[in-house]
Amino acid sequence: LTYPSVVAAVRDERWTEHVQSVLGRAGHRRGGAREAVVELLASQECALTVLEMEAALRRRRRRIGRASVYRVLELLADYGLVARIDLGDGVTRYEPSRPDGEHHHHLLCARCQRLVPFSDTALERAIAGLSARQGFNVREHEVVLHGACERCAEV
Ligand SMILES: [Zn+2]
Ligand SMILES: [Zn+2]
Repeated sequence: LTYPSVVAAVRDERWTEHVQSVLGRAGHRRGGAREAVVELLASQECALTVLEMEAALRRRRRRIGRASVYRVLELLADYGLVARIDLGDGVTRYEPSRPDGEHHHHLLCARCQRLVPFSDTALERAIAGLSARQGFNVREHEVVLHGACERCAEV
């Protein structure tokens, strides 16, 4: 599994700009917590839990309380700027929701809880073909494959 990190970096910068312009137009003021959370999400390859965000912000020496992180995430979710990912393990994860529809899907290891992002054009084509055949206008889709990751499968 490979992830186009160079392309993703460009897209993430676009996501950050998109976030600032949507929230700015809606009259929301910039703030330290918002900047830090947006910057953090933009730098990640995949979804994060609030606990992971707290730890990452601490590593970046940003003192932002859990309540502030939640407030920023609520705001971003209200404007459709982040996707809430529910993988059925009782923990909500968040990741950037890109305006161009660029997205990825997830592999979740049931043993170590590792989350691995993947994208696959054949899968996207299959979903588009299926929605056309069913005459169903698919607005969005989520795909989560549950199993054991490479490391856990070897044991
Ligand atoms: Zn992800
Ligand atoms: Zn997809």
